[in-house]
Amino acid sequence: GINDRESVLRIARENDVKFVRLWFTDILGKLKGFAINVDDLEDALELGVGFDGSAIDGFARHHESDMRAFPDPATFTLLPWRPRQNAVARMICNIRQPRGQTFPGDPRYVLKRNLEKAAALGFTYYVGSELEFFYLKNAQTPEPLDFDGYFDQLSSYPASDLRRDTVLNLAEMGIPVKYSHHEGAPSQHEIDLEHTDALAMADNLMTAKLVIKELAQLQNVHATFMPKPISGINGSGLHLHQSLYREGSNCFYDADDEQYLSVLGKQFIAGLIAHAPEITAVTNQWVNSYKRLVPGYEAPVYVSWTHVNRSDLVRVPSYKPGAESSIRVEYRAADPACNPYLAFSVMLAAGLRGIEGQYQVPPPVVGNVLEMTPQRRQSLGIRTLPGSLGEAINLAENSELLYEALGDHVFNSLIENKKIEWEDYRSTVTDYEVSRYLSTL
Ligand code: GLU
Ligand code: MG
Ligand code: MG
Repeated sequence: GINDRESVLRIARENDVKFVRLWFTDILGKLKGFAINVDDLEDALELGVGFDGSAIDGFARHHESDMRAFPDPATFTLLPWRPRQNAVARMICNIRQPRGQTFPGDPRYVLKRNLEKAAALGFTYYVGSELEFFYLKNAQTPEPLDFDGYFDQLSSYPASDLRRDTVLNLAEMGIPVKYSHHEGAPSQHEIDLEHTDALAMADNLMTAKLVIKELAQLQNVHATFMPKPISGINGSGLHLHQSLYREGSNCFYDADDEQYLSVLGKQFIAGLIAHAPEITAVTNQWVNSYKRLVPGYEAPVYVSWTHVNRSDLVRVPSYKPGAESSIRVEYRAADPACNPYLAFSVMLAAGLRGIEGQYQVPPPVVGNVLEMTPQRRQSLGIRTLPGSLGEAINLAENSELLYEALGDHVFNSLIENKKIEWEDYRSTVTDYEVSRYLSTL
């Protein structure tokens, strides 16, 4: 990576960069930004650039205050799909207050703060991600483009070209893709980003989502990260593969354990399991997210863990048993419409609680949780994830872990935003009700 101002300025010159887009992410996980002229880049690197900070608050905007965006030199990269003449680059920014203090409402700052806590314990937090999404004919109706299925190889145009171009563009931007394939539902696709440290992964996910959408749009296709766009078929998840490293070695690995999983790894899982319900408002933050978390669609419903099954919340994949670098903890609840900076913050906080509190992990589930009777699940102590955004908000609001991980500003702003959304939904008469009740009641 590029790490100093001089190389940023030199690379900008060498590539005929004219515009530099300054990116940041709002509390609800939307990518925002504005472009500056390359002539102002040197100043921007040194002094930051003033902008209207109300853009960062999501729907409940009241901080009409000035903020300053400080571009992070390590994130300088060209936007490869834009023209090469008068080229466009992007930089991801840290948001600061006018006098230079950190801004607690900046999700990237929230993640950095949590990563510092992990670093104080000697840990580097790595994340790999499986990003699922749909390509649709347009943004008004959820009409699929193809009717292929899981891992199908027949090249359906334009989806396979879109996926190919996305992977190539991401590679040019320094974001390695490990796998890409057709997913289980019609027109559903998946792009898996190679694991990196969590801050880079959050930046990479924000970038990948934009690239997927932009390239689709250039072909008049609409790409969506809506968690459950179509009833009756799978929704889109964002599986997150996590590990903690200390001095170059994987702390979740233990050669002597039957499953190659260390005590630390088990405590991390125990933390995730213990705190899963209260962090779900962050990993699954929309009314629609909860239409995905229902039985029968490969999405988790119950708070359980396993080595093999796909309906559990946490999975320890065993593709390469015994290889140190392959041992990680896969959290399957999050959806691609979450804010990755905040989602990583709360997952890490939950896992670290497990380590610091030396939580005991329950035994892994053998068999299918979905097929168990409620009594059986209860006797195994298996709880459920919240069933609606309303339930998730209640759990979140009372969570001391969430408050600490997000900080006062983001915690309050998020809860306020989500309550507005939930009240709005709760009081809306849906198509379902009209078609079901109007003629019969
Ligand atoms: N699409 C499924 C979900 O909603 C996951 C399918 C898979 O196992 O990759 O989480
Ligand atoms: Mg998948
Ligand atoms: Mg997975």
